[in-house]
Amino acid sequence: MPADRRGERLRALAPAFETEGVDALLVTSRPNIRYLTGFSGSAALVVVTPRDVLLVTDFRYEEQARVEAGAIARVVVERASAWDRLFQDLAALGPLETIGYEAHALTVQDAGRFDAAGKPWRWVAAGAPVERLRARKDAGEVAAIAAAAALAGDALRDMLPRVRPGLSELEIAGVLEGALRRRGSEGHPFPTIVASGPRSALPHAHTSRRAVAAGDWLLLDFGAVVDGYCADITRTVVVGARATERQRAVYEIVRQAQRRAREGVRAGMPGRDVDALARDLIEAQGLGDAFGHSTGHGLGLEVHEAPRLARTAADPVPADAVVTIEPGVYLAGTGGVRIEDDVHVSADGPVLLSDGATELIELV
Ligand code: ZN
Ligand code: ZN
Repeated sequence: MPADRRGERLRALAPAFETEGVDALLVTSRPNIRYLTGFSGSAALVVVTPRDVLLVTDFRYEEQARVEAGAIARVVVERASAWDRLFQDLAALGPLETIGYEAHALTVQDAGRFDAAGKPWRWVAAGAPVERLRARKDAGEVAAIAAAAALAGDALRDMLPRVRPGLSELEIAGVLEGALRRRGSEGHPFPTIVASGPRSALPHAHTSRRAVAAGDWLLLDFGAVVDGYCADITRTVVVGARATERQRAVYEIVRQAQRRAREGVRAGMPGRDVDALARDLIEAQGLGDAFGHSTGHGLGLEVHEAPRLARTAADPVPADAVVTIEPGVYLAGTGGVRIEDDVHVSADGPVLLSDGATELIELV
C-alpha cells in the first residue's frame, strides 16, 4: 500500500483528537491497524498521536511489520510483553495526558492494565473515529472490493453447473469455496452459507448435511477477499426443476425490491430510507413479516461495517461508501429467497461492483 494513502488517512484522523478530547488514540482493532498502518498481521498494538505512530508487535511479525508499516510507523518488536513495552515507549511520544481506547476492540482483561502499568495516563473510551473514516472508500479500496466481487461472480459461474440434486449443502459449499480459492480469493470472509429447501427460510442458516432435492430453493451466500477487502454476494437458484409459479412470484418480488434499492441508494440518504426502498415494495405485497433483517451493510476490510441500512439507521450514507443491498423473503416451512449485490455509493450515484446477474436461474 503506498505510504501516501496512509498519510492521508492519518491527516483525516487528526480532527478526531480534538473531538474525542484525547492526546493519543490506542488502536487495537485489527482492521483499523491495517487501515492506518498497512500492517496485516494478527498481533499488534498501535498508538497514534497528531505527530507519531507507534506500532508494537512480537518477533513473529518483525520482518512483516517493518515491510508493511515501516514507512509510516515507528515499529517496535518486543519478545516479552507487548503491553509492557507499549507503556514504556508511550513516555517517549511526548507529554500525553489523555489516551482514547477502542472500547469495542479491547478485552476487559487488557483494560485492567490501565489501572496498573498504565497509571500515568488518563484512559477514556473513544468513539469509533477510525471506523468513521473507513466508511468512505478511496479509489484503491473500491477497486479491491470490485475485484473481489468479480472473482466471486466468476467462481459462482464456474461451480453452478456442478450443482445437482443429491449433493449435500456442505458438498456444494466445498465446491464453491474451491472455486473461490482457484480464482484467487485470499480467504472466506465468513463461513459460506448454503441453505436448501425449507432451510433456505433461515436467513443465517448453518450449512448442513441436508441433501438437495429437485425443485428446492438453493440459497448461496458467499464472499471473496482481495487485498484484504471483502465482497459479499447472495444468489438463490432452483435446483433440478423449473420454478413453480409461486417460486417465480416470490423471486420476482425480491428481485424488484433489490433492484429498487440498489438503483435508488444515494449519498446523504439516511440508512433507513435506503432500507425502505426495498422494504416498502415487499410490504406492499403483504410479505413485510417475511423480511426480518435489514436491507444491507457497509463492506470493506470487514464484511460488516458502517454504514447500516436498517429500519433504525438514522445516519446518512456517506459519499463513497460501499454497501450490500440484500433484501429477502423467508417463508417458514417452504423456503426463502435472498438476493445480494455490492454497490459503490459514489457522489454521482450508485455503481454496481458485483455482476447484478439476478435473473432467476433454474439448474435443470
Ligand atoms: Zn451475504
Ligand atoms: Zn451481507
